[in-house]
Amino acid sequence: MRILIQKFGGTSMATEQTRTDVMNKILEAKKKYEGVVVVVSAIGRLGAPYATDSLLHLVNHKHTNLSPREVDLLMSVGETISSLIMANTLLDQGHKACALTGGGAGIMTDSHFNHAEVTHIHTKPLMTLLREDTIPIVAGFQGVNVDRHVTTLGRGGSDTTAVLLGEALEAEAVEIFTDVDGIMTADPRICKSAKIINTISYNEVFQMAGSGAKVIHPRAVEVARRAGIPLIIKNTFSEAEGTSIMRHIGPTNKKTVDEQIITSIAHISDRVQFSIFGQIDDEKFFTDLAKENVSIDIINIFPDRKVFTIEEHCKNKVIHLLEAFGAEYSLIEGCCKVTVIGERMTGVPGVMAKILRCLSKASVEILQTADSLSTIACLIREKDLEIAVEALHEEFMVSEYVSK
Ligand code: ADP
Ligand code: ASP
Ligand code: MG
Repeated sequence: MRILIQKFGGTSMATEQTRTDVMNKILEAKKKYEGVVVVVSAIGRLGAPYATDSLLHLVNHKHTNLSPREVDLLMSVGETISSLIMANTLLDQGHKACALTGGGAGIMTDSHFNHAEVTHIHTKPLMTLLREDTIPIVAGFQGVNVDRHVTTLGRGGSDTTAVLLGEALEAEAVEIFTDVDGIMTADPRICKSAKIINTISYNEVFQMAGSGAKVIHPRAVEVARRAGIPLIIKNTFSEAEGTSIMRHIGPTNKKTVDEQIITSIAHISDRVQFSIFGQIDDEKFFTDLAKENVSIDIINIFPDRKVFTIEEHCKNKVIHLLEAFGAEYSLIEGCCKVTVIGERMTGVPGVMAKILRCLSKASVEILQTADSLSTIACLIREKDLEIAVEALHEEFMVSEYVSK
């Protein structure tokens, strides 16, 4: 059976009008595929009554006495409501549709509440509906563990649900519908000159998502790459072709935005930089940090000091530990990380020099850097974020860009 998976994000589910747009995308797909499986996120963003963040705010989640299992039960409700409302929209118009929870759709997970891993998918419930020509509307972001308790897959996890279902059902493609025309060269919310990327490799999107570009969840990209499933990011509210994510981008005879050395610029906020001066028991300190579940982002070790960056919410744990070690330290709060991404930068000289020149010209101070084969990240102050992204975008994406 030729199957397509379509996932719709929170903004697509927000109102009756947007849900009609969703329905039209589903019905269009039904003309081309024998089976269409729909995955939905919770309705809207913070402020909307059933958005995941709104549900969490109902219980003051940072200090709640609810167990992680109960928090998962609460969070999962948003997607469950969404699946019912979308099924109702289709049924009202005379189409065959059926709402399912993650568990009902056969999604089995381990018991790591709040960030569970899918262990197995029983395809029977969905295949039975597809054979009856019914459109399953699956609540994203959730599954059940062996004890039949509801689990969630980590924030942004509906994308992962969609791709895992695509893998299990051997779908031809997975379409992720959102509120922008596709993956762009930078977050359009902070970079006005951001452009759509037509094709991009799994690795580059994985790097983007891992560097903070929230347009798709990194785990979803990882599964798509593993399964070799084409992943397409599209806009629910336009006819734009979207962005195709694939294994390899073949050469063409024109230099376009898809062929540049740098493909995109991502950013992530809420970072704090710590510097430790003098000697402490390094091994024990970093082992204790790991035990406290603090993950280190950028780290540089020098003979006389150590500089590392963490997520803001871990700040107090780090301070506590530093005090316990009697360490001499300083910290810079209100930082963010801007990452320049491009698979083709490997072995190309001068990229770092260009970044340094560009940020210096924009009067942006770099606090720390890190690089990998396909990324260069700079830690800067949050107040400089927009200027830095615009400047780097201008340097790498606009001035080098030749329009198609
Ligand atoms: P959904 O609710 O549909 O899952 P998300 O908020 O998770 O939507 O993802 C879409 C948003 O991702 C866009 O509105 C955009 O602001 C943001 N975004 C960040 N970086 C990028 C990028 N490089 N390209 C496109 N969108 C991006
Ligand atoms: N609703 C969940 C979240 O906000 C999952 C998702 O949207 O993918 O994280
Ligand atoms: Mg999302």
